[in-house]
Amino acid sequence: MIKFNEHLENIEIYEAGKPIELVVRDFGINSANVIKMASNENPFGMSPVVSQAIAENSWKGYLYPDDSMFQLKKDLAKKFNVNEKELIIGSGSDQVLEFIARAKLNTSSTVLMNKITFAMYGIYAKQSGASIIKTNSLYHDLSQFLDLYREYKPDIIYICTPNNPTGEAISQESLFNFLDQIDINTLIVIDGAYMEYAKYLNQSFAIEPKELIEKYPNTIYLGTFSKAYGLGGMRVGYGIAKTEIIRPLLKVRPPFNIATLSMLSAIEALKDEDFVIKSIQANFIEMERYEKFLREIGWSYIKSATNFITISLPDGYNSTTISDKLLQVGIIVRNLKGYGLNAVRITIGKKEDNSRLFATIRELL
Ligand SMILES: *Cc1c(COP(=O)(O)O)cnc(C)c1O
Repeated sequence: MIKFNEHLENIEIYEAGKPIELVVRDFGINSANVIKMASNENPFGMSPVVSQAIAENSWKGYLYPDDSMFQLKKDLAKKFNVNEKELIIGSGSDQVLEFIARAKLNTSSTVLMNKITFAMYGIYAKQSGASIIKTNSLYHDLSQFLDLYREYKPDIIYICTPNNPTGEAISQESLFNFLDQIDINTLIVIDGAYMEYAKYLNQSFAIEPKELIEKYPNTIYLGTFSKAYGLGGMRVGYGIAKTEIIRPLLKVRPPFNIATLSMLSAIEALKDEDFVIKSIQANFIEMERYEKFLREIGWSYIKSATNFITISLPDGYNSTTISDKLLQVGIIVRNLKGYGLNAVRITIGKKEDNSRLFATIRELL
């Protein structure tokens, strides 16, 4: 028997949202009729500025990318009013999470996170052999976080705002009140994968990375191009922190971790913020339709500050059955059974796609 890292025995292989190809293969549905509402991508795709730049620059794929990431870092530094040295770029913010775990954790470490939150925090912690402490509440209850922090003195605290897969956001005020009480030597990860949405919905949810890291030098803010910017397939995310945190992370980063055309896409995407705003506006118009529809059929949902809505199923309905039935007609949603919830998470789609989902659910009632 070949022996592998023993910590891996405690990890289940992560199952990501199902791809369109799977539905085409398994159910023989034409890909044009499949709607993907499982991975929180932007239903409007990417900005035309980006797709045009990719087409014009595709020939550059033979070249290794600029490993200093000069332009992207310059543009992100400008956008967030931070120094280039306060940035790290990952193949998705997922990879930045991996860097953080590899640089910080070992078998004697402990991490603290919400009971229901982004699965990768736990997976990377387990890979490092760290112990995981979770709260027992669905939403981020910061007073409980504080109690557990005092009891366990974790090495990393993960805060996801807005949280995936529940969609609720924390106000800047309550986050800062919490951070005020944490020792400066405890690393805190603030995952803002959906921050563009939350901030648009309610300014009190806005966490500005510059203000965050100036006030709390023990924090790292994570952002991504995968959601509002519509570049999920390009895999670009970033971390913003003081150089004391960024420097060790750079030591575990492999060279050329952002592909040439991915980097170019992110640079171009930053030139078209208008596309992002329009996508977010459309998202919340559709969100209201979801809320109205769910009230009509009497299903409860979590008020969301993101581009997805989490619906908890009433008695007599099983999230696995519902998601399978939707899948058979070409609608991919995320079953949250794996999180211990009888709930589904649905990415807000385009108007016509949402209408089709509503009609399909009505038929299932
Ligand atoms: C989507 C997501 C990410 C990271 O996505 P990448 O595509 O790896 O940038 C990180 N955190 C949360 C909560 C997410 O939902």
